[in-house]
Amino acid sequence: MTRPLPDIHDPGFAPFWAGTAAGELRIVFCPDCDQPRWPPRPVCGHCRSFELDWRPVTPTGHLHTWTGVEHQTASDLPPPYVVGLVEIREHPTVRLLGRIVGTDPSRLRVGLPLTARFDPVTDEVTLVNWAPIDDHYADGDSDGDSEERRQ
Ligand SMILES: [Zn+2]
Repeated sequence: MTRPLPDIHDPGFAPFWAGTAAGELRIVFCPDCDQPRWPPRPVCGHCRSFELDWRPVTPTGHLHTWTGVEHQTASDLPPPYVVGLVEIREHPTVRLLGRIVGTDPSRLRVGLPLTARFDPVTDEVTLVNWAPIDDHYADGDSDGDSEERRQ
């Protein structure tokens, strides 16, 4: 069995998948109170508005947590691989799941700065995976953005 893919025509998420296909990370915001609304819901949890607005955000984030997958569950996704929960840098309350790629799993740590990779898996579906921001290793900054994260 191959891996299940998202329904890119689901009206609740279609703008997200259109964004990934275009190399953008798009998130729902409430236009009335300007708060992100993720996952997308019909009503704003802050101000009860029914309005919504999909906006691109900078496709960077921080690793919140992760797990290693060592058992094969799909014929087209051989283990081992790492799945992470990533906090979007501009909006840390927004967290997305994706594979963590481009690094040895032993280098992963909470708060690791990541950048999105838009990886097409079919002609229609582009998934978001995450890779460490290379500069982070180049300057030896082992602390990452921890100062910024303490608010
Ligand atoms: Zn609102």
